[in-house]
Amino acid sequence: MIDARAFIRAKRDRQMHGSGEIQAFIMGCLRGEVPDYQLSAWLMAAFLNGLDVAETDALTEALLRSGRVFDWSDLKSPTADKHSTGGVGDKTSLILAPVVAACGVGVPMVSGRGLGHTGGTLDKLESIPGFRTRLSPETMRAQLATLGVVMVGQGPDLAPADGMVYALRDVTSTVECEAFIVASIVSKKIAAGSSAVVYDVKCGNGAFMTSLATARHLARRLVDTTRTLGRSAGALVTDMSQPLGSAVGNALEVREAVDVLRGGGPTDVRFLTLELAALMLELCGAERERHPAMARATRALESGAAWETFLALVEAQGGDPGSVQNARGLPQASVIRAAPAPRSGYVARIDTFGLGELLVRMGGGRAAKGQEVDPRVGLKVQVRLGDAVRAGDVMAELHLAIEDTEAMERSVACFKIQDAPAAVPEIVLERVD
Ligand code: URA
Repeated sequence: MIDARAFIRAKRDRQMHGSGEIQAFIMGCLRGEVPDYQLSAWLMAAFLNGLDVAETDALTEALLRSGRVFDWSDLKSPTADKHSTGGVGDKTSLILAPVVAACGVGVPMVSGRGLGHTGGTLDKLESIPGFRTRLSPETMRAQLATLGVVMVGQGPDLAPADGMVYALRDVTSTVECEAFIVASIVSKKIAAGSSAVVYDVKCGNGAFMTSLATARHLARRLVDTTRTLGRSAGALVTDMSQPLGSAVGNALEVREAVDVLRGGGPTDVRFLTLELAALMLELCGAERERHPAMARATRALESGAAWETFLALVEAQGGDPGSVQNARGLPQASVIRAAPAPRSGYVARIDTFGLGELLVRMGGGRAAKGQEVDPRVGLKVQVRLGDAVRAGDVMAELHLAIEDTEAMERSVACFKIQDAPAAVPEIVLERVD
């Protein structure tokens, strides 16, 4: 049995772990021999003192081997998946998975819950009444064969050790660590069995990587680690210096994703989803070049095929299709309040991290392990960087469970208005192959 105290002490004192030690520690945690408080202590020691590439690879392997590794090579279609490193208002997976599936590519997508101030696809999906994010391997296989898409989270079968580590990172302020992010994401993606993986590496004040240099480095590590494990991979580094789209919060984001699937919705969400879809089609070999890949993805979205696939996915996983078809079918907050601009000028900065933290405080994310999230609460951000506003214009609409004047004040403080027009960032900052 692993001596957890010695293992934690070693990292506290900046020593390197061997891969066997990491494997034994993670398995000890998974079997319940190492309690949460010792895993939390190690997470903080490793967060502060770092893990090198060999240790990160060992952690990735340990998380990956904690469950089974799916193999879809007997399916007729190629398979592809995408993962975001975490952002605010990032609902692309909900649109992307059905778009790519409607292009004839299998999408066995494994997603996470909210992490730190960022949202999680699983929490969003679970705001659809009845939607199940835990399926048996047999059900996943059958659904992938018939529908071409399945969206699940970790369970006892799929990278369960990542689920355990992820839940503790979320509440111990140990999220923004490149080694943990690489191990967490790559282990899940390899376990889920796609032959190609696209990473959306978020960069900016709402992301875990706030500078282009750190985001680029993370993108490189994700791509290289995935390729070393035998899958094709690519990454886009994308802007997260403002929320993606308008909606931030679980049910609100599902509603906005539905708007995009039905031909409307915010243009940035649609644009980024199609960029990611085209890259998935290219990397899995369904298309050889970007131009036809983009045309195919656009057709799947514009023809309504992706929307039909989404409805079938919701139904197949126990969700109520009526809840997404009907404009008022998803859980709704009872208190809706507007956050006004305090002065006239231009939107120069949005504190995207602050908006994500505000959502957690409003009940839309977790401050403690295992906490229930409230699917109804969130924000609809009405302004974008560079927009001109007049004093009193609505900058954000808050969807609250109860009256909350502090939330109102905090939301107003997340927007900086200045006299001169501000630079507007591109959505896709870089492509890493
Ligand atoms: N998404 C994950 O699955 N893990 C991370 O660490 C960050 C984003």
